[in-house]
Amino acid sequence: MTTAASPHQWLKPTPKGLYCVPGDFFIDPAVPVDRGVITHGHGDHARPNNRHVLATGETIAIMRRRFGDDAGGTLQTLRYREPIALGGVSLTLIPAGHVLGSAQVVLEHLGCRVVVSGDYKRRADPTCAPFELQRCDVFITEATFGLPVFRHPPDGQEIAKLLHSLHLFPERAHVIGVYALGKCQRVLALLRRAGYDAPIYIHGALQPLCALYEQHGVALGPLRPATGATREELAGSIVLAPPSALGDVWSRRMPDPVIAVASGWMRVKQRAKQRGVELPLVISDHADWDELDATSKPARSG
Ligand SMILES: [Zn+2]
Repeated sequence: MTTAASPHQWLKPTPKGLYCVPGDFFIDPAVPVDRGVITHGHGDHARPNNRHVLATGETIAIMRRRFGDDAGGTLQTLRYREPIALGGVSLTLIPAGHVLGSAQVVLEHLGCRVVVSGDYKRRADPTCAPFELQRCDVFITEATFGLPVFRHPPDGQEIAKLLHSLHLFPERAHVIGVYALGKCQRVLALLRRAGYDAPIYIHGALQPLCALYEQHGVALGPLRPATGATREELAGSIVLAPPSALGDVWSRRMPDPVIAVASGWMRVKQRAKQRGVELPLVISDHADWDELDATSKPARSG
């Protein structure tokens, strides 16, 4: 086991985000900066209008899709596992297994190796490259589900729950709340893996990123716009929508809907109940308690 060299002299938490002094860049900056390294396309990590952006090609494509011309001044693509030097710091992007294009940022400077995880998960996801464990002296981890109560069940079990409900209620639309980036495509891919090959209806807000995933080689099967579909078509079908659409007028057109949400937070029954979720599906793109624990063990630097 190596002794961890302190990176405090060259890597600093600031209100704008984590700042690398010799490289003069921020990781996932909270406000527009000169140089931003972006771990992945979610809105709390990727923000518009940085002067220079460095990220994987997929993340840059996602930012372009979301922000258009405001994605950044210059957009520089870096492939996984190809180190570049920035002001004496070696920077490498390594798959984080979170969503398409998501990366851990590996920094090496003065003999110290730091991994900034971004968001990650350890279990297999058919829509993105799997997480790769890195040895390091310092590991900066997310901890969205950093409590022992959060243990995500196997994805297959949750998808089976959904398919079983569909079987029990063949006349009802199953409307599933999913985040537009990552969760939506993962639920679609998991359903296809489970053998569900009927058309799946999607809310208009989910369409652009589904198309982007397909352009990057992630097959999602037959998709139909939910808007414009008849009640007869929607009866007995699966409909995906952003969580915000579940409570509004949009979902009231659905024939006797079974409201589901796919999220790690569905582990908290009270939360599901409060939101009127009849069918909670515990499917998360974040590491659960056991994954966080296994990933952060000191053996990482051994
Ligand atoms: Zn994320």
